[in-house]
Amino acid sequence: MNRNKDANGGFLSYEHKKQIPPVIKQQVLKALSFYPELKNTVISFIFRKNIRSSVMQAQPVFHTLLRKRKDRRYRINISTHFSLIRCDMPVTEIPEEVMVGWIAHELGHIMDYEQRSNTGIISFGYRYLFSSKYVKEAERVADTYAVERGLGKHLIATKRFILDHAEIPQAYKNKITRLYLSPDVIVELVKKLEEKKQKEVAQA
Ligand SMILES: [Zn+2]
Repeated sequence: MNRNKDANGGFLSYEHKKQIPPVIKQQVLKALSFYPELKNTVISFIFRKNIRSSVMQAQPVFHTLLRKRKDRRYRINISTHFSLIRCDMPVTEIPEEVMVGWIAHELGHIMDYEQRSNTGIISFGYRYLFSSKYVKEAERVADTYAVERGLGKHLIATKRFILDHAEIPQAYKNKITRLYLSPDVIVELVKKLEEKKQKEVAQA
């Protein structure tokens, strides 16, 4: 994949139509650089004091779903304080690789939304609220997008950070284990993807 860097070796071209808080700009742009398809998609990254039972959350801006498809906008809410975490860990203390993996997962959700119509997204939202089986499937889809974009290593770092981090409450770790792909499953996904690529190269 051709990831264009600007003259400074940065990823500033990926800032188009994005609203990003300066303290996490570098990590967000890095994650965005793996998703060139989202270049013209409007996404605001917004810090929130308190997100219930989540650290990050990708969602369409609801009222834009009532307009034309091309006017759709998204929001990625990011918890400032990680209120789930007993200790107070500012977002800036999270290792870069972990942060990029986390955002890459959220961008995977947006890729998934992008395949859906407005009414499709609304029914998706209801099912997500009421069915844990559906949540599991949606999380698998988001992780798969990130792995396919070459972010498997980052995703694994994120999962390990969550699962190994002693300060994170067990209830949250349990939620992650129950609903999300485990690091081992992601390692498997990365392996399969590499095998697929090698086969393609061999056939070419
Ligand atoms: Zn998710």
